[in-house]
Amino acid sequence: MNKLEFFFNRGLLNYHPTISEEGFYRFDEISKKVVEQPLRIDWKDYLGLVHSPEYIAKARNASIKEEFFAYMHNCKESFRCATIAAGMAVESSQRGLFSLARPPGHHARPTKGDGYSIFNNIAIASKDLIRQGMKVAIVDFDAHHGDGTQDIFLGNNAVQYFSIHEMDSWPFSGEMGWNMNAFNYPVRAGSDDRVLLGWARLVQDKVSTFNPDILAISAGFDGFKEDRIAHLDFSLDGYFSLGTILGELEKKTFAVLEGGYHNRLYSCALSFKEGFNSVRA
Ligand SMILES: [Zn+2]
Repeated sequence: MNKLEFFFNRGLLNYHPTISEEGFYRFDEISKKVVEQPLRIDWKDYLGLVHSPEYIAKARNASIKEEFFAYMHNCKESFRCATIAAGMAVESSQRGLFSLARPPGHHARPTKGDGYSIFNNIAIASKDLIRQGMKVAIVDFDAHHGDGTQDIFLGNNAVQYFSIHEMDSWPFSGEMGWNMNAFNYPVRAGSDDRVLLGWARLVQDKVSTFNPDILAISAGFDGFKEDRIAHLDFSLDGYFSLGTILGELEKKTFAVLEGGYHNRLYSCALSFKEGFNSVRA
């Protein structure tokens, strides 16, 4: 079973460096510590698996015109960076990597961008796996519910979607329990590692029962205690342990960065990756 290796591309750094919503600060440390790798696949072959041609044109236009789109200010490079992020997710699914890309994707729907998400990176990669006949478990530990991902796969038997997220918080979806093939687990503001790891054990059990061909991780680190947007209390140790629990599933795995709005995003991702790899031979 694969270990996770970081995947980063410097093309992502052009993404509106001065705009605050999904800010450059997130990638400051990542860009200094992670070695760049070229993107080998062509996003044009994959975006249409989830998004309509009209929506893709709309996103491109919003970037050209530097409009407010997907709940953030776009710049001339936004579209290109969002396509790189989508391509990196697909390549990560093929090579078992952890894509450190921006913008996030799990709020994007086929015809609507939202919550800093232009294209739904994890959904695009998962659709490509499904068309190859695979079953995919998507585990999303971003502090927000991945409403876009859930909507895209709701009722699709090839997928089970698992999300832990802060209760009574944007986008106000993801009620406790099963909703068809989506298992949601809202938690109170202030919830700590104990809660995170309790959820992870539950998910470990459910994913084992589902027995997917591949585990797709929406790795958002806005549950970290220093986050500027969310109000959870997860720690670096918590992310390490979460990594070990998901690593123990012994499934081929890839991961895609979602949110995380603080200056220790690299440390959080590293801690998770090290935990995951610690249980892989
Ligand atoms: Zn988030």
